[in-house]
Amino acid sequence: MLAKRMSLLADSGTAAAREAATAAVATGRQIIDLASGEVIIEPPSSVREGAIAAINAGTSRYTDSIGLMPLRKAVAEKLSAQTGLSWNADEIAITAGAKQGLLDAALAVLDPGDEAIIIRPCWPTFPYQVLLAGAKPAFVDAHSPTYVPDMDAIRAAVTPRTKVIIINSPNNPTGAVYDRTTLQAIGDLAINYKLWIVSDECYSSFVFTGTRHESIVMTHPGVRSRTILVNAFSKELVITGWRLGYLAAPSEIVSAAKKLQSHTTSNANVIAQHAILHHLQVGDGSFEREMHQRLSVARNKGLLLLSGLHDVATPGAKGSFFLYLDLSRLVSAQPATGRLRSTDDVARLLLDEAGVASVAGSTFGDVNGLRLSFGATPDLLELGLKRVVETLNSLKTRRPAA
Ligand code: PLP
Repeated sequence: MLAKRMSLLADSGTAAAREAATAAVATGRQIIDLASGEVIIEPPSSVREGAIAAINAGTSRYTDSIGLMPLRKAVAEKLSAQTGLSWNADEIAITAGAKQGLLDAALAVLDPGDEAIIIRPCWPTFPYQVLLAGAKPAFVDAHSPTYVPDMDAIRAAVTPRTKVIIINSPNNPTGAVYDRTTLQAIGDLAINYKLWIVSDECYSSFVFTGTRHESIVMTHPGVRSRTILVNAFSKELVITGWRLGYLAAPSEIVSAAKKLQSHTTSNANVIAQHAILHHLQVGDGSFEREMHQRLSVARNKGLLLLSGLHDVATPGAKGSFFLYLDLSRLVSAQPATGRLRSTDDVARLLLDEAGVASVAGSTFGDVNGLRLSFGATPDLLELGLKRVVETLNSLKTRRPAA
């Protein structure tokens, strides 16, 4: 018999979408993958060269559980340059991807019975990690078209047990980028109620609204002592499988991460650490600029194609690399007896009829949404979105299935 905590966890919805697409491909069908949380592009040569050099040098041993000191220093410098605030290596822990940094944060600050505010739609791991820490997620729904949370709704969710607010801007899945006023208000709230802020900034490189990414610690420097900033190289350098991220936080959190990691996974992969260190030393930012440019073009193309949808508003897609559709009008216009009663059904239809993999909003705690990634190659993105538009627009004129 398994431990009770296992009943708290479900399989990943995004993995399920991937598996459904893989199963369709196994039957010989050509499926366009717009479900993926990755950009389809090769990682920069500096990262690959750094990894090869580390392997050729015979690098193989444990590092400190929160990473190589030169890498922690390099990350502190990168963050200082990005935020305009001064960071030092004592405030940085290298983690096995953002996911481990987020779990460190949850385990370090949440006690059983505590509550963590999570803005929904949300990346599904947030609530599961809160549950694993023995605490309770308190969801606050953010709505279309902006998906920026309403401060009154957040305030209403605060109870004497609230210990943490988790934010994720730029957002997966909605593409929302929180404005300065919202970030400042969240900061004020955290100070007033003595909350920790866990700020997942995994998509910080992908803001498309003309401004650069602003971390909550930039908009409200007063929250720095209560913020656990989590980021990763996974998306930025397209090395999701290499597992390399970091958290930046007050030193008590970094010490907690050190203990947690030393008793769970030990250090993040040493080859990946050397590879990223090499990239941070020799990279001139051209890869990051080119990737941003490519995604910016893909986003514009995607928005143009999706503007052809009937009954569905064109998404904001201000950040991350997702086009998040609110299908509430489309689904509610379907006959109650028909086969399209939810966006799960829509995702299934798109896979079956259009040969396009997407992720239904239910994965993110939102019955109305559908996530499409614009990280696919340009030709497949165009073909995939054309098919999505054609299929969704055809729903209006169809008779319900018998
Ligand atoms: N946070 C968010 C919002 C994500 O979307 C993801 C991955 O999709 C992660 C964290 C996990 O990142 P990593 O692969 O670096 O663990």
